[in-house]
Amino acid sequence: MPLPKKLTLFGIPWKIKLFKPTGWLSHEHRGMTVFGAKEIHILQDSNEKSTLLHELIHVAEEMTSAGLTEAQVVALERGLWNIFETNPQLLTYFNERTTKPTNNSTIVQAILELGRSSNDDPSDHGYEREI
Ligand SMILES: [Zn+2]
Repeated sequence: MPLPKKLTLFGIPWKIKLFKPTGWLSHEHRGMTVFGAKEIHILQDSNEKSTLLHELIHVAEEMTSAGLTEAQVVALERGLWNIFETNPQLLTYFNERTTKPTNNSTIVQAILELGRSSNDDPSDHGYEREI
């Protein structure tokens, strides 16, 4: 399956764009999330999938106001990538449980609510925020 060109993230349409390994971006970054334009740019190479996962974690982090550092995003990318690579049946299982996504799904609302409440007092939610 080719890289999807469009995704709906938290009820918002996003564009996914591939770029070739030339130019300044590829020297230090494999991907970039442009929140204002709702675009994710992915370097065209052998790590496209894990790079997309990394950028999706950035989107989730932003939408939930989790306050993750880049190192924490990288750790989540590597950890989740390992889990999904070792257990591909998990993706099938998750897909079967979300057969009717909508823009106003209760899951989206719950995640957005989590982001709002985590801004109130992070200590109530069992994690610390790095500043
Ligand atoms: Zn990053």
